Amino acid sequence: MRKKSNLLKNSFFILKERINETDDIITLKFSPIKGKIFSFIPGQFVDVYFLDDRCGGQGKPYSISSIPSDHFLNITVKKIGRFSGVLHNLKIGEKVKISSPQGHFYLEDEMKDVIFLAGGIGITPFYSIISAYFKQEINDRNFTLFYSNKTAKDAVFLKELNKLMKMWKRFKIINIFTREKKKNYFDKNKEFQSLNIKILKKYLKSLGNKHYFICGSIGFVNDLWKCLKNNKVKEENIRVESFY
Ligand SMILES: Cc1cc2nc3c(=O)[nH]c(=O)nc-3n(C[C@H](O)[C@H](O)[C@H](O)COP(=O)(O)OP(=O)(O)OC[C@H]3O[C@@H](n4cnc5c(N)ncnc54)[C@H](O)[C@@H]3O)c2cc1C
Repeated sequence: MRKKSNLLKNSFFILKERINETDDIITLKFSPIKGKIFSFIPGQFVDVYFLDDRCGGQGKPYSISSIPSDHFLNITVKKIGRFSGVLHNLKIGEKVKISSPQGHFYLEDEMKDVIFLAGGIGITPFYSIISAYFKQEINDRNFTLFYSNKTAKDAVFLKELNKLMKMWKRFKIINIFTREKKKNYFDKNKEFQSLNIKILKKYLKSLGNKHYFICGSIGFVNDLWKCLKNNKVKEENIRVESFY
C-alpha cells in the first residue's frame, strides 16, 4: 500500500465506463471532475485512492492503459486481492482520487529497436506506449512484443494489438502461452512454454543494440532481467516495472 506523497498532486475522478476484458480483468474509464486530464507519458502509472475507508485510506499504483489523446484516463485491473477487488466492484458514477503520473518506464528518443517483455497484466504500460506511438506520423522504431499468458483467453488487448501489427510492419508480436498445447504445427510466432533465452534468441537473432522493457509480476521481471544480464545485455539498456 502507498502512503499519500506530498510531492504528488491528487485529483478527483469519476468512473464513466467499465469494460470486461477477460474473466478477471476489467478496464475502468475515468473522467476528471474538474478540468482536463493531466498530461502524462505513455508507460507511466498513477496511484488510486478510494474516498471512503474501504482500503484504509491508502492507495495502490496502476499503469495508465489509455493514451494522452484519449477522452478518458483508463486503468486495466486484474482481480487479485482486496484493493483490486474493490476496483472491480466500483460503480459507474463513483469517485476516486488519482495522483499525478509517475515513473520512468517510457521510451526515450534514442531507443530505436525496442523489445517489450510482458507477463500477463504487465501488458498495460506497453499497450499505452504502443498505441500512442502508432498514432504518430513518424514511425522510425522497431517494436517486438513478447506477450506471455497462460492461454489466449487471458491475453488482454491481444485483438487490438494484432490489429496494430497487421497495419504496421515494424511491429511484431510473439505470443507465449504457458498453459496451452500447440494445436497447429504451423502456428506462427507462438511459443508454448515459459519465456526464456532460447525463445528470445530465436526471434531476435542478436540480443545486442536493443532496448528492453520488462513488466509483470516480480518473478517474471527478475527471471528475465537475470536472463538478459547473463547474456551480456547492458544494464542501462533494460528498464523494468514490477507489479507487486
Ligand atoms: C508501478 C505499478 C504499476 C501497476 N500497474 C498495474 C496494472 O496496470 N494493473 C494491475 O492489475 N495491477 C497493477 N499493479 C499492481 C497493483 O498495484 C496491486 O498490487 C494489485 O492490484 C494487487 O493488489 P490487491 O490489494 O488486489 O492484492 P494484494 O492482496 O495486495 O495481492 C496479493 C499478492 O499478489 C501479488 N501481486 C500483485 N500484483 C500481481 C500480479 N500482477 N501478478 C502476480 N502477483 C501479483 C502481491 O505482491 C501480493 O503478494 C501495479 C503495481 C505497480 C507497482
